[in-house]
Amino acid sequence: MSPKQRTRRGSEKLAHLVRSHDGPLTRELVRRPGRFGLGQVPTKLAPDAVARTVCGFCSTGCGLTAHLRDGEACNLSPDPAYPVNRGMACPKGWEALAPLDSSHRATRPLLRGGSGRLEPVSWDVALRTFAERVHRIQSHHGAESVAFLGTGQMPTEELAFLGALAKFGLGMVHGDGNTRQCMATAAVAYKESFGFDAPPYSYRDFEDSDVIVLVGSNLCIAHPILWERICRNPHDPEIIVVDPRRTETAIAATQHVALRPKSDLVLFYGIARHLIARGAVDRAFVDAHTSGFDEFAAFVSRFDDATLGRETGLPPEAIERLVDTIARGKRVSYWWTMGVNQSHEGVRVAQALINLSLLTGQIGRPGTGANSITGQCNAMGSRLFSNTTSLLGGRDFRSASDRAEVAGILGIPESRIPDAPSLAYDQILDGVRDGRIKGLWIVATNSAHSWIDQDDFRALREGLDLLVVQDMYADTETAAMADLVLPAAAWGEKDGTFINSERRWGRVRKVRRSPGEALADFQIFRLIAHYTGCAPLFERWKTPEDVFDALKALSVGRPCDVSGIRDYRHLEASGGIQWPFSADDAEAPPVTERRLFEDGRFFHADARARFRFERSRSVEEPTSSGFPFVLLTGRGSSAQWHTETRTRNSAMLRRLAPERTPVEIHPADAKRLGIADGAAVVVASRRAEIVVRARVTATVPEGCVFVPMHDAATNRLTHASFDPHSRQPSYKHCAVALRPASLSGRAGSAC
Ligand code: SF4
Repeated sequence: MSPKQRTRRGSEKLAHLVRSHDGPLTRELVRRPGRFGLGQVPTKLAPDAVARTVCGFCSTGCGLTAHLRDGEACNLSPDPAYPVNRGMACPKGWEALAPLDSSHRATRPLLRGGSGRLEPVSWDVALRTFAERVHRIQSHHGAESVAFLGTGQMPTEELAFLGALAKFGLGMVHGDGNTRQCMATAAVAYKESFGFDAPPYSYRDFEDSDVIVLVGSNLCIAHPILWERICRNPHDPEIIVVDPRRTETAIAATQHVALRPKSDLVLFYGIARHLIARGAVDRAFVDAHTSGFDEFAAFVSRFDDATLGRETGLPPEAIERLVDTIARGKRVSYWWTMGVNQSHEGVRVAQALINLSLLTGQIGRPGTGANSITGQCNAMGSRLFSNTTSLLGGRDFRSASDRAEVAGILGIPESRIPDAPSLAYDQILDGVRDGRIKGLWIVATNSAHSWIDQDDFRALREGLDLLVVQDMYADTETAAMADLVLPAAAWGEKDGTFINSERRWGRVRKVRRSPGEALADFQIFRLIAHYTGCAPLFERWKTPEDVFDALKALSVGRPCDVSGIRDYRHLEASGGIQWPFSADDAEAPPVTERRLFEDGRFFHADARARFRFERSRSVEEPTSSGFPFVLLTGRGSSAQWHTETRTRNSAMLRRLAPERTPVEIHPADAKRLGIADGAAVVVASRRAEIVVRARVTATVPEGCVFVPMHDAATNRLTHASFDPHSRQPSYKHCAVALRPASLSGRAGSAC
């Protein structure tokens, strides 16, 4: 069948789909599908023999080449020309098509009816239900009583549409995304320190550094292609891993700083004191480009060697070697990810690293920087354009001039824009708990698995009058709880852009048709706009590229200005383009990898970066005699992704992942408790008990255990504590007890 025939068949199928459900709106859908954006659904498959796209798992943002047969992708390979991965991909990238073929895909809208079961319904019924029930809740309890939770997994155009539709169209005030679980800490840290949420680096800096400091990052597993970039570094760099666990990355490093869990803030303040004491401050840089250094220097003077030793558990020689390496480095780069972000004081830890780079002048030059590595493929897009915590383009909902600017650019009434930022994810859930939030619309995220203290989230379901889940799968833990499931197209089945960790906008291509009646989230948003009566606000947004044009306009004059990107074809031809890329930048010779702050000018009004610091706080749930172990959680393998909704749908990735969820236990602890390698073990917290398999290994220190986050049971254990500045959950520390499973009478889940 030729691509043309397939296109015709798709059009007929769509027409049949909407014709089979009566009603004036569906008749209109058939008569004028273009009005709803539906006309493009079957016509956008890439017609070429190959199509270049960007991976939809992690924030590395690898370029992939989709190989097409009859217009549809039949295989993928890493793109050798893409500047990010240069022909490499991890197992998830190679297997990215497999999850699309799963039998668990959501292919029809599902509605929970009188039987209590989710039953298939037409799109017309589903959308009418959505509109009627959202309006009913809002008319009874106020516009604020319905909230949304989005994702860093959707293209930028779709998450901008979701945020604009929910807030400007449907009058919702509160919405957040799973980026709260991932990057909120880095976003707040950068905003306060630099004046804008601006990761300063390019991946090239991995190759240019002579000292690379990785904090709370198991790069080999979580971002394997970035580890490959380090392996290409020709300068024989010192690689320092700061992590309580002896991870795969720590084993490969030249220095492993195995500090006590959550003592990193004290360590970095102590290092700052040492660097200042030995005269390693770049005084010219500090004087010209920063403010607050003298206060910072006075503050860190209290972090003496005795304090460092007591808090971190590190011997003096390990600290001395670390300080010496940093002080002697010519091009020192600091990199962090979830070990920092998912912490009770993550913002200050991130800023402690930023402070180290500022005081030594290690920023704005090749191989330097205080660099947060993002998690999800479009976390950066979500940070800039999801319209949740910040108004579109990193603006402030509280600013009248920002609201007026956005209203003018989008051609909407200013009164449609809320004058306060959203509640954060945990605060929205608190709203459900106390009855302020009665409806929740969850898009492309699996909260019932991934949210901290998961049983609490599940219990909150009872307080909702309406739970809508929009997802590519109908069998996620969250979809199973829904009143209404809207079947969505997946990565590879729709168009748009992602922004990766190094600020690179990359083009995402539709190379497959979505199954059954699943529609691109973009199309679902257009339909919801129509069914809820706010379509006129979004008349200009007929295609993803229309939204892309709007985002360009919204970025003009902002730190994230991308007005120099002509169109999608420009992005494809350039191998992605890093922001900022203004109209002026477009006039200059093309550069594939760029870093920020080369001129020493930051985004605060005075162009100076800030030293931010604060006294360290205690963890909320310290160990005790009843719960004597610290539970660490994290990535299990490079074949697994988050809640495994996708990766478990690849036979290859399942084979590469551990067959059973392990708990890593130090040999001394295992011996004391009589736990043999491979034995079933109960891990118990104050909230739940789970059963997993013992992996007796010295990768964890005594007194700590590690369980991968991918098992649905893991977050039954975690304790809901949050960084007070970013509201990001602290997944990496809670108190647990262990015992052999044979002694257990009531384990929470079987391994
Ligand atoms: Fe995809 Fe990340 Fe793997 Fe690259 S490293 S192929 S972006 S999952």
